[in-house]
Amino acid sequence: MALSSLTTQTLKRGACGKCPACGIGRMLHNYIAPLEKCTYCNLTFAPLRADDGPAWVTILITGHLSMPFVFWLLDQKLNNTTLEIIYALAFILLLSALILPRAKGVFMAIIWMMHVKKENDYNPQTEKDSTQ
Ligand SMILES: [Zn+2]
Repeated sequence: MALSSLTTQTLKRGACGKCPACGIGRMLHNYIAPLEKCTYCNLTFAPLRADDGPAWVTILITGHLSMPFVFWLLDQKLNNTTLEIIYALAFILLLSALILPRAKGVFMAIIWMMHVKKENDYNPQTEKDSTQ
Protein backbone atom coordinates (compact mmCIF):
# COMPACT_ATOMS: atom_id res chain seq x y z
CA MET A 1 0.00 0.00 0.00
CA ALA A 2 1.60 3.20 -1.14
CA LEU A 3 1.06 6.47 0.64
CA SER A 4 -0.52 9.24 -1.39
CA SER A 5 1.69 12.13 -2.37
CA LEU A 6 -0.33 14.43 -0.10
CA THR A 7 0.26 12.12 2.88
CA THR A 8 3.96 11.87 2.10
CA GLN A 9 4.18 15.63 1.74
CA THR A 10 2.38 16.19 5.04
CA LEU A 11 4.64 13.72 6.86
CA LYS A 12 7.74 15.40 5.40
CA ARG A 13 6.45 18.79 6.54
CA GLY A 14 5.94 17.41 10.04
CA ALA A 15 9.40 15.84 10.11
CA CYS A 16 10.89 19.21 9.17
CA GLY A 17 8.90 20.96 11.92
CA LYS A 18 6.77 22.85 9.39
CA CYS A 19 3.02 23.39 9.51
CA PRO A 20 1.27 20.31 8.06
CA ALA A 21 -1.29 22.47 6.24
CA CYS A 22 0.83 25.07 4.46
CA GLY A 23 4.38 23.74 4.88
CA ILE A 24 5.72 27.28 5.33
CA GLY A 25 5.11 28.30 8.94
CA ARG A 26 6.97 26.67 11.80
CA MET A 27 5.21 24.24 14.11
CA LEU A 28 7.74 23.92 16.95
CA HIS A 29 9.89 26.30 18.96
CA ASN A 30 12.29 25.79 21.89
CA TYR A 31 13.19 22.33 20.61
CA ILE A 32 9.81 20.52 20.90
CA ALA A 33 7.30 23.04 22.26
CA PRO A 34 4.47 23.56 19.76
CA LEU A 35 3.62 27.10 18.75
CA GLU A 36 0.09 28.34 19.43
CA LYS A 37 -0.69 28.64 15.73
CA CYS A 38 0.99 28.72 12.35
CA THR A 39 2.61 32.02 11.59
CA TYR A 40 1.63 31.77 7.92
CA CYS A 41 -1.84 30.17 7.68
CA ASN A 42 -3.04 30.56 11.32
CA LEU A 43 -3.72 26.83 11.75
CA THR A 44 -4.19 26.24 15.48
CA PHE A 45 -1.81 23.61 16.82
CA ALA A 46 -3.60 23.10 20.19
CA PRO A 47 -5.70 20.13 18.97
CA LEU A 48 -2.55 18.40 17.67
CA ARG A 49 -1.47 16.96 21.03
CA ALA A 50 1.12 14.27 20.43
CA ASP A 51 1.46 13.39 24.16
CA ASP A 52 3.88 10.46 24.69
CA GLY A 53 3.90 9.24 21.10
CA PRO A 54 7.11 11.03 19.99
CA ALA A 55 9.01 9.86 23.09
CA TRP A 56 7.84 6.30 22.49
CA VAL A 57 8.99 6.36 18.84
CA THR A 58 12.30 7.96 19.83
CA ILE A 59 13.01 5.24 22.37
CA LEU A 60 11.97 2.55 19.90
CA ILE A 61 14.26 3.80 17.12
CA THR A 62 17.16 4.76 19.38
CA GLY A 63 17.06 1.39 21.12
CA HIS A 64 17.20 -0.51 17.86
CA LEU A 65 19.99 1.64 16.41
CA SER A 66 22.12 1.92 19.55
CA MET A 67 22.54 -1.81 20.16
CA PRO A 68 24.43 -2.46 16.90
CA PHE A 69 26.58 0.57 17.72
CA VAL A 70 27.34 -0.73 21.21
CA PHE A 71 28.25 -4.17 19.85
CA TRP A 72 30.47 -2.55 17.22
CA LEU A 73 32.04 -0.40 19.94
CA LEU A 74 32.76 -3.45 22.09
CA ASP A 75 34.31 -5.16 19.07
CA GLN A 76 36.82 -2.30 18.72
CA LYS A 77 38.70 -3.56 21.79
CA LEU A 78 39.25 -0.16 23.35
CA ASN A 79 40.02 -1.86 26.68
CA ASN A 80 38.62 1.16 28.49
CA THR A 81 35.15 0.63 29.89
CA THR A 82 34.71 4.27 30.86
CA LEU A 83 35.50 5.41 27.32
CA GLU A 84 33.11 2.82 25.86
CA ILE A 85 30.31 3.99 28.16
CA ILE A 86 30.96 7.64 27.27
CA TYR A 87 30.88 6.88 23.53
CA ALA A 88 27.71 4.80 23.87
CA LEU A 89 25.92 7.44 25.95
CA ALA A 90 26.99 10.22 23.58
CA PHE A 91 25.67 8.23 20.61
CA ILE A 92 22.37 7.48 22.33
CA LEU A 93 21.86 11.08 23.51
CA LEU A 94 22.72 12.53 20.11
CA LEU A 95 20.44 10.11 18.30
CA SER A 96 17.58 10.82 20.72
CA ALA A 97 18.08 14.57 20.37
CA LEU A 98 17.91 14.27 16.58
CA ILE A 99 14.88 11.99 16.45
CA LEU A 100 12.59 13.52 19.12
CA PRO A 101 11.61 16.82 17.40
CA ARG A 102 11.15 15.06 14.07
CA ALA A 103 8.96 12.41 15.69
CA LYS A 104 6.89 15.12 17.37
CA GLY A 105 6.39 16.89 14.05
CA VAL A 106 5.38 13.67 12.32
CA PHE A 107 2.93 12.79 15.11
CA MET A 108 1.36 16.24 14.95
CA ALA A 109 1.08 15.95 11.16
CA ILE A 110 -0.56 12.51 11.45
CA ILE A 111 -3.05 13.79 14.03
CA TRP A 112 -3.84 16.75 11.78
CA MET A 113 -4.42 14.42 8.83
CA MET A 114 -6.60 11.97 10.79
CA HIS A 115 -8.87 14.27 12.75
CA VAL A 116 -8.64 17.99 12.27
CA LYS A 117 -8.51 17.90 8.51
CA LYS A 118 -11.53 15.59 8.20
CA GLU A 119 -13.66 17.29 10.86
CA ASN A 120 -13.20 20.82 9.66
CA ASP A 121 -12.49 20.12 6.00
CA TYR A 122 -9.70 22.60 6.52
CA ASN A 123 -8.39 24.48 3.52
CA PRO A 124 -5.62 26.94 4.37
CA GLN A 125 -6.06 28.82 1.11
CA THR A 126 -9.72 29.70 1.79
CA GLU A 127 -8.98 30.69 5.40
CA LYS A 128 -6.14 32.91 4.25
CA ASP A 129 -8.39 34.49 1.62
CA SER A 130 -11.14 35.18 4.17
CA THR A 131 -8.74 36.98 6.51
CA GLN A 132 -7.58 39.39 3.82
ZN1 LIG B 1 0.60 26.87 8.21
